[in-house]
Amino acid sequence: MRHETALMQARALLERTPLLDGHNDLPWVIRNDRQARGDVIAYDLTRVHQDGDTDIPRLRDGRVGAQFWAAFQPTSAPHPARTALELIDLILRIEAAHPDVFLPARRATDVGRARRAGKIASFIAIEGGVGLENSLAPLRIWQAAGARLMTLCHNETLDWIDAATDAPRHNGVNAFGRAVIGELNRLGMVVDCAHTSHEAMRKVLDISAAPIALSHCNAFTLCDHPRNAPDDVLRRLKDNGGIVMATFVPGFISQDLRKWQAQSRDRYGKAPLAADPKAEQARQEARQGPAPRATLEQLADHIVYLVDIAGADHVGIGSDFFGGAQPLGLENVGCFPALFAELIRRGLSQAILAKIASRNFLRVMREVEKVGAKLRAERGPALGRIEDYPGA
Ligand SMILES: [Zn+2]
Repeated sequence: MRHETALMQARALLERTPLLDGHNDLPWVIRNDRQARGDVIAYDLTRVHQDGDTDIPRLRDGRVGAQFWAAFQPTSAPHPARTALELIDLILRIEAAHPDVFLPARRATDVGRARRAGKIASFIAIEGGVGLENSLAPLRIWQAAGARLMTLCHNETLDWIDAATDAPRHNGVNAFGRAVIGELNRLGMVVDCAHTSHEAMRKVLDISAAPIALSHCNAFTLCDHPRNAPDDVLRRLKDNGGIVMATFVPGFISQDLRKWQAQSRDRYGKAPLAADPKAEQARQEARQGPAPRATLEQLADHIVYLVDIAGADHVGIGSDFFGGAQPLGLENVGCFPALFAELIRRGLSQAILAKIASRNFLRVMREVEKVGAKLRAERGPALGRIEDYPGA
């Protein structure tokens, strides 16, 4: 099929079925922008940011219908609970600054509401349980503020959950970690195992009363970065009803790039957190020669593989645009139609593509909401801090 024909079909598909993206770090980009310094109005999302990857004109061009914004806290931040609140606040300010563009979305049905109003459904995700500071109370405050998904950890193992890119300490997850997952289930928030160790993914699949998400992960078999999901976890998503959301992070797509990057990483594959990821990449290229580029076509390989192993009902998209280097063909949020055009050329049916675009995630979210309502009828809030959980 000609490229232009596939692209037209992809655009038409994404106009019928909204594209839901499970992970975007724009709030962190706005916070660290040298001029705007966290001021949403000063950053000005209404203009195209050629040096960035996310702005309103390109969200529109990319047919994005629903977006999970990450309220990210690096594990090393001196004030993690404060940082989490500052990032939630930043997302609420994005919503408030552009009421004509973003519909504050807190339920699965809000995606349809946003579409009918010609808006983009804006969801809040917490990335990194470090902001809990080992207490369950912040979780309920985050939920009350609108958060509907929590990525359990970031790149470092916490006091209750093992990270993919750090030394394990809990055989996956400990007693307090189980309480966090139980409370997320009760609150109707999606439990997200992107960033947890493979063993933690398995444990969370054992524990969670509701479907889980891997909000920005690819297939470990195709690229053996520890952030990607192994086949046994992917297969278990069928029984769990959960979802793996393919991500654009170059080092999680291309095995060649993964090998190139490994030279500057520790044995767990962790990169030092860079204030300026593009400058860091440039420094590494000066040492090692040009980095192999990941491509849109390689990401399509991952998606076809994920559909194969996890099943067509368990795959979505979680771009993880974060202001850093991106694969060829996936440079900014305007790229989603091009990705779907490639998937059309790979022979995936319109029905499967609609599921990948948003139907699968919305099913997960409806189920998480249902389980939450049931659990809230059965039990009250879990009390406590980590010290109340023996063995944790
Ligand atoms: Zn992440």
